[in-house]
Amino acid sequence: MAHFEDLAGFIQRTSARAPAVREILERAGARPEEIRNRTALARLPVTRKTDLIDRQRAAPPFGGFLGVAQEELQRIFMSPGPLYDPHGQGKDYWRWGEALQEAGFRRGDLVLNTFSYHLSPAGFMFDEALRSLGAVVIPAGVGNTELQVRLLADLAITGYVGTPSFLATLLDKAVELGYDPAGWRLQKAFVTAERLPDSLRDRLQGQGIAVFQGYGTADVGCVAYECGVREGLHLSTAVIVEIVDPETGQPALPGEVGEIVVTVLDETYPLLRFGTGDLSLILTEPCRCGRETPRLGGLRGRLGDAVKVKGMFVYLRQIEEVMQRFPQVGRYQVIVSREDHRDHLLLRLEPRRGGGSPAAATGEPAPAEGEGSEEDARLTSGDVSGILATFRDIIRLRPEIEVLPPGSIPEGAKGLEDRRQWNA
Ligand SMILES: [Zn+2]
Repeated sequence: MAHFEDLAGFIQRTSARAPAVREILERAGARPEEIRNRTALARLPVTRKTDLIDRQRAAPPFGGFLGVAQEELQRIFMSPGPLYDPHGQGKDYWRWGEALQEAGFRRGDLVLNTFSYHLSPAGFMFDEALRSLGAVVIPAGVGNTELQVRLLADLAITGYVGTPSFLATLLDKAVELGYDPAGWRLQKAFVTAERLPDSLRDRLQGQGIAVFQGYGTADVGCVAYECGVREGLHLSTAVIVEIVDPETGQPALPGEVGEIVVTVLDETYPLLRFGTGDLSLILTEPCRCGRETPRLGGLRGRLGDAVKVKGMFVYLRQIEEVMQRFPQVGRYQVIVSREDHRDHLLLRLEPRRGGGSPAAATGEPAPAEGEGSEEDARLTSGDVSGILATFRDIIRLRPEIEVLPPGSIPEGAKGLEDRRQWNA
């Protein structure tokens, strides 16, 4: 495969410029010219999001992974984590063009891009990919639901890019406002950043919208996307994807579920063996569409403590960062659920009995009985609005807050619990 022919030279060049690449090779006792195939690549450690957060914190902004001078960049983003993401040169730096083309986007399309243009890269990722295909883009971003419905009703919009749940929200809102989406020109949607249950896809398709799904990350851009057969996601031609055993970092057997680990031959940001934290498998049989690129067999959940809510990652450590600022809070827990194809975030809080610092439901022991008094044990509305504002600043999502009497959250409950059911 062409990727592996290029890999050793790529690693040689980037290790000369990016200290993190050099350090990873040294630590693995590997020389760049040896990394010529999957077996050799698997000698290098997997770099996970949490490793990248730590590396970036130690050497901001890119943790030693930048392979070009900073003035070569177009933009710098800050994704949840926080993680800094560079925007390198080129018309379609994150390579989503091939995915959108497969979904039927082309010159003549007018596309509503509902990903955020603010701090995170998703908005610009799809904006430039769409424009590279000759489509005209409406940079709608997130929120402003009524205005977005108005755009759909007023303009001959042919395509949608965003999360599938926000598309459902727009269609519901339209009906609520007295519009009839059946009369719109909207005929295709490219969705990513959250799970697409069959029931939601069927509902959108039932409204005459062809729905195509993609998979990628803010760090590495496009990884895989659906063809018209919609059985699995074809790997992007520009990435090396491994499915690895999350415990060992070693390649899983064919057909086995493991973590998606991505190496992009991107001289700007040479992440080697980037562990996405998403679980999938490689389908072994060829696709009925005739394309020969391998396919991911859908996403099978996430590793570790991050969950994706409304297209944004939420980490337990971010929640801890919020709660550390409110010593009046005792136990707390964030519960993610899903109703009517919409993610719902509930922050449950207990006031602290006695002193000390806040504790996630897991980890630290509960304050001993009898410490402090019941009179201390309350949270004011000022506390709650402060917590809400800080939560929105750090996590960029708005939770519903429920204040409970001390002792309500059971010991050993997860600090971040995902209760969503995806098979409905
Ligand atoms: Zn196919």
